[in-house]
Amino acid sequence: MKFICQNCGEVDHVLMDGYDVGDRLLEGVMFKITVKKEKFQETLTAHVQDQDKSYFTDNHISIKKWEKEMTEDAKLSMDEDGCCMMYCPKCNDNQVIDITE
Ligand SMILES: [Zn+2]
Repeated sequence: MKFICQNCGEVDHVLMDGYDVGDRLLEGVMFKITVKKEKFQETLTAHVQDQDKSYFTDNHISIKKWEKEMTEDAKLSMDEDGCCMMYCPKCNDNQVIDITE
């Protein structure tokens, strides 16, 4: 399964701003969101990107906790109105992003 950006076509992952879940603590930290099929439905998972890991470890912020929070947030925004809070990693646009079969 992949995401589809209205501008770029298929992309492997999308990005979500940590501000959604962590407020100013995570403002501007972009989480990588991946999708896979699990029991006939898509499952989204949030990951801290490699370049941001030191920010978490240096400031004693739990990567595991926030990956979990962001995963929940991504699922919610998907259920609502087609992930308008998700950004394409290629064009940086937050046009409605869909998921392929
Ligand atoms: Zn795009």
